[in-house]
Amino acid sequence: MAQEPDNGRNGHAIETEQLWRVYRSGVQEVSALRGVDLQIKFGSFITLKGRSGSGKTTLLNCIGGLDRPTSGVVNVFGRNLMELSEDQLTHWRRKQVGFVFQAFGLLPMLSAYENVELMARIAGVRSKERRERTMHCLDLVGLQKQAQHRPYEMSGGQQQRVGIARALVNNPQLILADEPTGELDSTTAREILALFRSIVDEENMTLLVASHDALLDAYVDRVLELKDGQIVDIH
Ligand code: ADP
Ligand code: MG
Repeated sequence: MAQEPDNGRNGHAIETEQLWRVYRSGVQEVSALRGVDLQIKFGSFITLKGRSGSGKTTLLNCIGGLDRPTSGVVNVFGRNLMELSEDQLTHWRRKQVGFVFQAFGLLPMLSAYENVELMARIAGVRSKERRERTMHCLDLVGLQKQAQHRPYEMSGGQQQRVGIARALVNNPQLILADEPTGELDSTTAREILALFRSIVDEENMTLLVASHDALLDAYVDRVLELKDGQIVDIH
């Protein structure tokens, strides 16, 4: 496992304590997370495994500040996210977290370059730096030659590389990926996982990937198993 800097809360990038997320609609209640206690080290590559409905997406969203837990503590890089206002949370998320999605989530009318650059634009990065960072990130994922291609001109694996470049463009400390290989064949999935591994090792990032794909095990530092909203195994 990579050496981790000791500059977070107890040296952990992510810590949750008794995290609950209860969805309510009318009289119906679903407890998607039921007291999750979690500690993730800086610079580690972790997979969150579990069947559909086990709470993986909910947990990623709570850690990334896209969703609010019902109760408990979620601490990321020393910030207790529960204490941030909506505006503070949005600002924090743009700087600190990159998201990667199963269906890539690219804008179809924009080129690879424009899809990546847009995220830096939203974060308020000035044009010269934006251009440099965009090219650097496309380079990192091996797509410098495809910068002007639109999503429909690229394979699934290439589109996911654009998705990863977009997640990296604002230099986040944390990448959260929800089923990032779900739409890819196994050869392409392996290429994406190897890319993730090298990004974690070389860019000193923490990466959390939700997936039910057994392929992940060979690439990650640790596997966390989620069942019915609880961590049932760590190996
Ligand atoms: P996973 O990503 O592992 O498939 P989810 O986090 O999406 O699991 O879902 C966990 C549980 O929470 C499931 O029972 C799901 O039906 C429920 N759930 C997820 N999102 C919502 C929502 N917005 N409203 C109500 N229930 C939800
Ligand atoms: Mg999910």
